[in-house]
Amino acid sequence: MKNIVFIFISLLLFSCNTSAQNKNNEEIFSVTKTDAEWKADLDESEYNVLRKAGTEHAFSSELNKNYEKGVYVCAACGTPLFKSEYKYDSRSGWPSFDREIEGNVAFSTDRDLGYTRNEEHCATCGGHLGHVFDDGPKTTGKRHCINGAALDFIPSKNE
Ligand code: FE
Repeated sequence: MKNIVFIFISLLLFSCNTSAQNKNNEEIFSVTKTDAEWKADLDESEYNVLRKAGTEHAFSSELNKNYEKGVYVCAACGTPLFKSEYKYDSRSGWPSFDREIEGNVAFSTDRDLGYTRNEEHCATCGGHLGHVFDDGPKTTGKRHCINGAALDFIPSKNE
């Protein structure tokens, strides 16, 4: 009986791990495509951000000043990533949120600009979204600085 309980707890712990990793410590994503497939499925700016970890020009995204009610989903795989009520005006020029939909966004670190930043990506397809900083509003203290090209906005139906 103890063994069964142990196995059950182990399974539970493993399934709660939002970004499962394989032996090589690489994340496993449930949606995977070849680079050619992503290139065919995404437009140029989506591909550059999501698959090449590019950054769109500040103030270039229509979603930057969007404050309608709804949900922001991954432009590559449709996974819900941020709710409209998490959005605020950071004045940075990029859509900003004080929190993510927990479990649907995964995090890593990068030193692309010579200092350590917390990168964030879609936990379903691995698409790069942006970075999270500790200079957010009082609600959480976090500023999720997200490229609008990585997001699609789905307005609430009852609005
Ligand atoms: Fe995705």
